[in-house]
Amino acid sequence: MGIDSPDDVDLEVMAFFCGARVKYRDLTSCAARIVGKDNRAIITVDRRTSFERQRFSIAHELGHWVQDRGQVSVSCRSADLTPFKLKNFQIDREAAANRFAVELLMPTYLFSKAAHDKTMTIESARVLAAQFRVSLTAAAIRLVELGSYPAIVVCSSKNGYQWSWRHPEIPLSIRVNRLISRHSVAQHLHSDAKFEPPGPTTVDADDWVSHTQVEDYVLTEDSVRIGRDSVLSLIWWHDEGPLISYDL
Ligand SMILES: [Zn+2]
Repeated sequence: MGIDSPDDVDLEVMAFFCGARVKYRDLTSCAARIVGKDNRAIITVDRRTSFERQRFSIAHELGHWVQDRGQVSVSCRSADLTPFKLKNFQIDREAAANRFAVELLMPTYLFSKAAHDKTMTIESARVLAAQFRVSLTAAAIRLVELGSYPAIVVCSSKNGYQWSWRHPEIPLSIRVNRLISRHSVAQHLHSDAKFEPPGPTTVDADDWVSHTQVEDYVLTEDSVRIGRDSVLSLIWWHDEGPLISYDL
């Protein structure tokens, strides 16, 4: 479709191109849905949600249409319509629709260019989120996935770890801690509602991850509150030395 910049990603035009019309309604039993037969489909999204959320929902429903074109009827729950539910997309249809949405909204060839050489910080994620008209969480995940430097994005609640996503160069032997360290910025944000996010902060690596020799170095943490009870943290190996020199 000649998409040369993030501004060209017009989801209603794309949907129309695929035979789908988009409607905006108050939805109660689901967050978004698609009903289609033969070459025509109707996508309905909840109009009370944010603009970025509506865009993600349309892209997700188009993912279902691409999977099941000709005959489809799916109602999607809010919990499934998330950019972090991408794992096992080969077998999980909701994850596959999310993966499709992420690629449609933030195409690899455009996002890699936009993320090139950017610091792995919340500020970079904010810039990219505004550019691609997606949520901060979606942009942070894509920044970690396609950015120039090794980092992990972690989402936590007061009860601890919720999910994470990592740069492909970070070995799987590095495990993210399930308990959020009391020395981390994230924990301060959880425990003190008045605590303002300080921006990128140097923390001990073992506050966030576990592996051999983890006590020998530091990481850069940048955390902010998202939603009611969640904190989004970008954990950046600003100094890549430990990743190279340790046998991980
Ligand atoms: Zn779905």
